[in-house]
Amino acid sequence: MYCPGHLDGEPFASVRWFGVPCGMQSLERLVSERLGPIKERLAQVRGVISDMDGVIYHGDRLLPGAGEFVEWLRQENKEFLFLTNASQRSRKELQAKMRRLGIDLEHDHFYTSALATAGFLSSQKPNGSAFVIGESGLTNALYDVGYAMNEVDPDYVVVGDSRTYSIDQIEKAVALVRAGAKLIGTNPDISGPVEHGIIPSCGALIKPIELVAGVNPYFVGKPNPLMMRQALKRIECRREETLIIGDRMDTDIIAGVESEIGTVLVLSGVTGEAELNSFAYRPDYVLSGVGRLPEVGAA
Ligand SMILES: [Mg+2]
Repeated sequence: MYCPGHLDGEPFASVRWFGVPCGMQSLERLVSERLGPIKERLAQVRGVISDMDGVIYHGDRLLPGAGEFVEWLRQENKEFLFLTNASQRSRKELQAKMRRLGIDLEHDHFYTSALATAGFLSSQKPNGSAFVIGESGLTNALYDVGYAMNEVDPDYVVVGDSRTYSIDQIEKAVALVRAGAKLIGTNPDISGPVEHGIIPSCGALIKPIELVAGVNPYFVGKPNPLMMRQALKRIECRREETLIIGDRMDTDIIAGVESEIGTVLVLSGVTGEAELNSFAYRPDYVLSGVGRLPEVGAA
């Protein structure tokens, strides 16, 4: 049995409903006429760039349909990359986490704001040096592009997600920035989700340094379109033949809009249906979850 949808208000003028099973928390809508019906679009796209938290998993819990989604990407021979603003983990650690959750992928299907930051710094100043507040995912990414760690006169102070943040590090970072080091943040997120709530993320951790040193940091991760362009290069797809999937309007969807890449908002994470209309931009498609993609594609 199918019904046109289960939600109250209709946020956009041009909304087409697709049939969804009644009583299920699933829906899919085309909210923009720009890219045409989603089924045809899915058949055309060669590349998919997907967020992870709120899309594939939430904390340590795999979201419904995520396994089917990955299987669909493989069967359809899509080029795909899982992208995260979290900077503490390496690709191998993300690969291991996904494997624990039951999804087996090669490590080159993952891309993090730490890798994007390392790529950016290496393009700005090859073989430079950095004082880093962050975890191994970030320091290793910097080592891999030829950067040296430096606590005396680094080119950059780089702040990422960290569980070992200390007042000593803040004081050191402030002094180095005041002495001329450039302040870089891996991602502007104020908080990050964990199993039972939220914890401070890079955007919050960098604040004391920013305020005391009196400088504006540069953030490399989403919504900076730089990260999207680097992702496109990795999957070797053009923006016209790629879709971005994410759960946040203010990072994933805006990044797609600003990079002119088609966007799919999934309602399994941060942005809820009720908040959609409060943004000045909109996604091309809205789905209840990533598991709907194979179903819509096959419909
Ligand atoms: Mg997310």
